[in-house]
Amino acid sequence: MSKKILITSRSFGKISDEPMKILKDAGFEVTMKGADFDQKEFEQIIPEYDALIIGAHPFPEDLMEKCPKLQIICKHGAGLDNIPLEKAKELGITVCNVPGTNSNAVADLAVGLMISLSRNIVIANNRTRAGEWKPVIGLDFCYKTLGLIGFGAIAKNVARRAKGFGMKVLAYDPYIKELPEEFRDYTTLVSLDEIIKTADFISLHLPLTDETRDMITVKELSKMKEGVYVVNTSRGGIVNEADLYEAVKSGHVAGAALDVSVKEPMDMDNPLRSLENIIITPHIGMYSKEAIGAVSLICAQNAAAKIEGKELQFKVV
Ligand code: NAD
Repeated sequence: MSKKILITSRSFGKISDEPMKILKDAGFEVTMKGADFDQKEFEQIIPEYDALIIGAHPFPEDLMEKCPKLQIICKHGAGLDNIPLEKAKELGITVCNVPGTNSNAVADLAVGLMISLSRNIVIANNRTRAGEWKPVIGLDFCYKTLGLIGFGAIAKNVARRAKGFGMKVLAYDPYIKELPEEFRDYTTLVSLDEIIKTADFISLHLPLTDETRDMITVKELSKMKEGVYVVNTSRGGIVNEADLYEAVKSGHVAGAALDVSVKEPMDMDNPLRSLENIIITPHIGMYSKEAIGAVSLICAQNAAAKIEGKELQFKVV
């Protein structure tokens, strides 16, 4: 009997037919539920599947216990916060992700959002379309101090771009003891407090864990420099949304950009939507053709390799 694979990522296979061909050649019967994803439906049908290529939605622990056929979960991306890894390990379910592959795409977006904020690009666009033709004065992005929270694959690529803008880069990452050689002339490893107090732009690039949830609340926001810009392309919940709203509304934080939110899609009545100087994008960090193409390919190769008993790339559990 053929093996069944469920795909809940919105972007799987959007760039080329190759990933789907790999799954079909491996004998998989494929069900695509990315475009019209529904969590309730997912919870009902996943017990029938042997393999899963998962998007960003939750896979509850107790549900995993009801999936005796499931052999492999391939995360269509890097962040593993929606998958209970310990439970998967206990149940013998293999988990793979695709780290690093989307790090150029997310870094481009983070830098783009910082420039959009400091030069009011989105505000100017919206006002001009609404009939105005008035200049909006912004701030230079170049030569400022950039604070990176987390210094993994994405943050390193943001730092590389910041070098070209002549920026001074501060990085906080408690799991990195020494900076790689290439960053040393323009990047310094500092405490979180130093970033909070001295950076003109703060960009977050770390996983959502019990340790990082609500890492940035009113306490940290109030210590930030007047006029700071905050960009979160990592995960919703690391920056407290209610506190960020107040800090931007008061003008202490000059602007914020969020590619991620605690609840996705973000609720229509979330107050963050009401402020002109908050840019909100629908979790598009890795949505470049190059990144999606590479991530889909690796997920398909891993799912096929698992059932063919071959070696896997980026096996986490
Ligand atoms: P990575 O694993 O290469 O880097 C994460 C870094 O965070 C590591 O260096 C780690 O040491 C550091 N870190 C962990 N806990 C920390 C803490 N308490 N304080 C400071 N640093 C801490 O991951 P990456 O590829 O750079 O991705 C970073 C995050 O971006 C991912 O975890 C994911 O949540 C998010 N992401 C978002 C998108 C998107 O579409 N917006 C796409 C990819 C990744």
